Amino acid sequence: MLPSRASVVVVGGGPAGFMAAIAAAEAAGGRFPGGVLLLESTPEPLHKVLISGGGRCNVTHACWDPRLLVDHYPRGGKALRGPFSRFATGDTVAWFQAHGLELVEEPDGRLFPRSNRSSSVVETLRRAAIATGVVLHTAQAGQTAQALPGGGFRLRLRSGAELEAEHLVLATGSHPSGLRIAASLGHGLVAPVPSLFTLTLADHPLVDLAGVAMDPVQLELLLTPLPGIAATATKPQRQRGPVLITHWGLSGPATLRLTAFAARALRERRYRAGLRVDWTGGRKPAELEGWFADARLEQARRQLGNWRPWPDLSRRLWLHLLALVGVDASLRWADLPRRSEQALITALRDSRYQISGRGPFGEEFVTAGGIPLSEVNLATMESRVQPGLFLVGELLDVDGVTGGFNFQHCWSSGWLAGQALAAQRTCS
Ligand SMILES: Cc1cc2nc3c(=O)[nH]c(=O)nc-3n(C[C@H](O)[C@H](O)[C@H](O)COP(=O)(O)OP(=O)(O)OC[C@H]3O[C@@H](n4cnc5c(N)ncnc54)[C@H](O)[C@@H]3O)c2cc1C
Repeated sequence: MLPSRASVVVVGGGPAGFMAAIAAAEAAGGRFPGGVLLLESTPEPLHKVLISGGGRCNVTHACWDPRLLVDHYPRGGKALRGPFSRFATGDTVAWFQAHGLELVEEPDGRLFPRSNRSSSVVETLRRAAIATGVVLHTAQAGQTAQALPGGGFRLRLRSGAELEAEHLVLATGSHPSGLRIAASLGHGLVAPVPSLFTLTLADHPLVDLAGVAMDPVQLELLLTPLPGIAATATKPQRQRGPVLITHWGLSGPATLRLTAFAARALRERRYRAGLRVDWTGGRKPAELEGWFADARLEQARRQLGNWRPWPDLSRRLWLHLLALVGVDASLRWADLPRRSEQALITALRDSRYQISGRGPFGEEFVTAGGIPLSEVNLATMESRVQPGLFLVGELLDVDGVTGGFNFQHCWSSGWLAGQALAAQRTCS
């Protein structure tokens, strides 16, 4: 049975909502007489946690210094230094450890549960909620909220039920219902746009190479100025890292990072832009010329198709580039004309493609946009517009690149809100 009153009502049973509810209940040590209520609109909470990281849940990233951590947030950035200086990656690892879940670091810095199952993260959060007395109600969607004259809120649910809360936490992710509730309480909105998506290439010139992965590759967006539109500043528009060639274009961490940082600029251009690809990962021409000189000398009798200038260069890509610049792969290294060498070095360092859209499967994992950070006290996650209202997680205009950074923001913002809620309770 849904009670008619609660000290704290958290709307949204995702990672940010669970963390806020658990942290509040733990920090208050049971001193919320009306209890902490967690409302989730679907039958099962923590759905995104369950499907995240390919069913393994990339909980956070081994970036321990808050000053460096903020560089992974295209929206949020430096403003997150304060929150992360109070609860960052190390705190997340310790928090989960204290609640019975060990996180293990992979060579690329991503941290996963030792079980390699996202269900362990879900179980840990659910167990911690029960242990701290947080009461979860599923299939209960918050619809509207009204601030009461004497403080507190009246929340109306989609079912028609109503309840009063001394403190209200909105943790509804990118769902429009949470943004609507926040707007009705006086909040603005930075228009949501997709972030973290793959790229479709026009007439896909690399389609025969689908499945080829290269690391590192340097990608640079070539954005044309738009007449009459002040293009959103997007820094940096160059990314370096692993790239995967797909059946429709490009994917992989460097592509996702590029699209995250340029999410708005690409949207303004309807996902049409030029792309410069440096398959060497940013190596200087002199270094490549050195490798070519070595190959001419040491592999003189070998055919070009059978010896690549450096071993990590994909053979399929090398053969593609040879054909592109019109060099016969059966030519011996000793016979490679100088001008063909220059053409190959240019193709390796400066291949140009046209982006014609986002990837076809809606791969975006997060939404850029939401409640502006200027409207939130980032030390407590309390609204500057409506006292007693707390805003956490993806609902805010914060998003990170792939690698566990989005969950990290949920853990940090949820934990901070929890501490502030408990502190307000203790003081009153
Ligand atoms: C496929 C996929 C994989 C991902 N993998 C990773 C990863 O490995 N690492 C990483 O860091 N990030 C990952 N992300 C991003 C990450 O899942 C999100 O950033 C994160 O879940 C946001 O958490 P949240 O609590 O703010 O919102 P959500 O997780 O969206 O939770 C919000 C909850 O609120 C509920 N809700 C919405 N409206 C209402 C309402 N009106 N009343 C009550 N309940 C409501 C929703 O049903 C939902 O359960 C992934 C995302 C996707 C889609």
